[in-house]
Amino acid sequence: MSKFTLSNTVTTLQPSGIRKFFDLAASMDNVISLGVGEPDFVTPWNVREASIYSLETGHTAYTSNAGLFELRDEVSRYFSKKFDVHYDPNEELIITVGASQGIDIALRTILNPGDEVIVIDPCFVSYAPLVSLAGGVPVHLATTGEEEFKINLQALKKKITPKTKAILLCNPNNPTGTLLEKELLEDLAIFVKKHNLIVISDEIYAELVYDGEYTSFAKIDGMRDHTILISGFSKTFAMTGWRLGIVAAPSEIISHMLKVHQYAIMCAPTMSQHAAVEALRNGEHDVEAMRRSYMQRRNYLVSSLQENGLSCHLPGGAFYVFPSIQNTGLTSEEFAEQLLLKERVAVVPGNVFGDCGEGFIRCSYATSLEQLIEATKRIGRFLQTLPTFQPV
Ligand code: PMP
Repeated sequence: MSKFTLSNTVTTLQPSGIRKFFDLAASMDNVISLGVGEPDFVTPWNVREASIYSLETGHTAYTSNAGLFELRDEVSRYFSKKFDVHYDPNEELIITVGASQGIDIALRTILNPGDEVIVIDPCFVSYAPLVSLAGGVPVHLATTGEEEFKINLQALKKKITPKTKAILLCNPNNPTGTLLEKELLEDLAIFVKKHNLIVISDEIYAELVYDGEYTSFAKIDGMRDHTILISGFSKTFAMTGWRLGIVAAPSEIISHMLKVHQYAIMCAPTMSQHAAVEALRNGEHDVEAMRRSYMQRRNYLVSSLQENGLSCHLPGGAFYVFPSIQNTGLTSEEFAEQLLLKERVAVVPGNVFGDCGEGFIRCSYATSLEQLIEATKRIGRFLQTLPTFQPV
């Protein structure tokens, strides 16, 4: 209890539900973790070497607020080549401290107190708290397993009020792995235009797509002006610890975001930015090798969970699967806790990603195939011990 009156917004925030399971798992031996949301690969050597070289040659000062021009220039080229979306490196890009900071400054730049932001559940645990911290009100839109967690536009319509300012989109999605196809994005765009909304499009998993073409929301006709595009290096290049992200948006939004970034952060870490230049210039083969490895693991994990009697859709991207555990007779928290204690496999209960995540668990396949084989063996054994389990 503090003797000071602290911020009501902050004191009423709940800590992330994921942490509790990580802390418990960390205190135990022989745990296989399917809980983590980060690549199990080490950052490619040439990328690490570029950073080491930057230190050796004394590049230890701040960069410009928006980030090294050299890096923004590479990012601009990369977006054009990969996603056919075009941003001016001088006026439309900021290098941030992870995608996390990109989302934060986007929200702080666009929201006035009480403005509503639609978050599509189940979603990344940071979204709703970041909206609240920016003075906004998160409005939760549920999706369902039957619809493979895709946005239902009829349901979305009902969430719109005169205060709706933005939609926070995550494609491909954490925690469900769901990939939104171009047609759905086009339908969403009509809606966005009609209500004059901003879409904060978190595309941090855009390179980890396994089936079909990826379409950036900014690429949809008329949407570039409505989009704040969030991207980053953490997932694509296995660079979570380097803390480096990207925001792209029209200059009239970016120029204001840059003030928030400038006053709060100054600039992203210089040695990380030098590494990122190398990642964009020469990282394509490594990214493709990691993508193929994730795809193989995804295929194994989904079919193995299905063989174990759980219902699980084949997600199109990211590195998560989100099987239903509704046929086990347990809540998602009970399932995760008992699985950890009895079989030492850590997964994340779906309810931490929003109410409609109840009845599901998130399993990350950013771990080796050998570990996945052992984990699914243990999950199968665990399910057999549940008297209420009815395999599908
Ligand atoms: N968005 C999503 C959907 C994520 O899953 C994560 C990381 N778990 C982030 C953003 C944050 O990424 P970064 O490391 O770039 O801050």
